[in-house]
Amino acid sequence: MENAFILFIGLVIGSFCNVAGLRIPQKKSIVYPGSSCPACDRKLGWYEMIPVVSWVIQRGSCRGCKEKILILYPVTELLTGLLFMFSLLLLDWSFELLLIWSLISMLAIITVSDLVYMVIPDCILLFFGGLFILLRSWVQIGSAWDPLFGFLLGFGLLYTIAATSGGGMGGGDIKLMGVAGIVLGWKAVLLAFMLALFLGAVFGTAGLALKRLNRKQRIPFGPFLAAGILLSYFFYEEIAGFYFSRIH
Ligand SMILES: [Zn+2]
Repeated sequence: MENAFILFIGLVIGSFCNVAGLRIPQKKSIVYPGSSCPACDRKLGWYEMIPVVSWVIQRGSCRGCKEKILILYPVTELLTGLLFMFSLLLLDWSFELLLIWSLISMLAIITVSDLVYMVIPDCILLFFGGLFILLRSWVQIGSAWDPLFGFLLGFGLLYTIAATSGGGMGGGDIKLMGVAGIVLGWKAVLLAFMLALFLGAVFGTAGLALKRLNRKQRIPFGPFLAAGILLSYFFYEEIAGFYFSRIH
């Protein structure tokens, strides 16, 4: 019962993350006006704003103008909901849930923003960065210095790569990994980055092979970083343990 309730909360927050990810980069308010169809500007009724369900009932298009609604919206809602529930199953009721739920919400917002506009807004990173410092001083994982080392390594590593490789990594990606480092600590932020590179390489290779991508296309890296960050948060022991047992 409590799992279903948290799934529902996650779906609603996922829906809010869509709005935030779409409006903040355009400097629009996230509370006013209410949601409307991006194609025909028609105001949406409450029954058109039920996470996932409305999209399925309307078969992925607007009731007014029949314009397709991006599949990104229900996917963000569903993933956020499932991740909220998964965190509860893994961590049980603890203060750490507040930390991981905040992390999931930030990653949902920046994924939407990066996919739609190719930008990760500073104000989102600043807001969550402050929140993470607060929550991390409360939720003890590893040593007390770990959030600081995580921030420095996440930021420094990507900054160095961006400065020496000239392209590929944007300013938003660099700052994102700094902020994620506050939550993850230095070891897990390093793993998160390696996982993101791996996932990005697999996606790029598959896309080129299947001719769905071309070499000139810019692919936002934020969603891969987001996936790496969450995998590393949840499965650091399993992945790092597996990797190091292989090379010994
Ligand atoms: Zn419409």
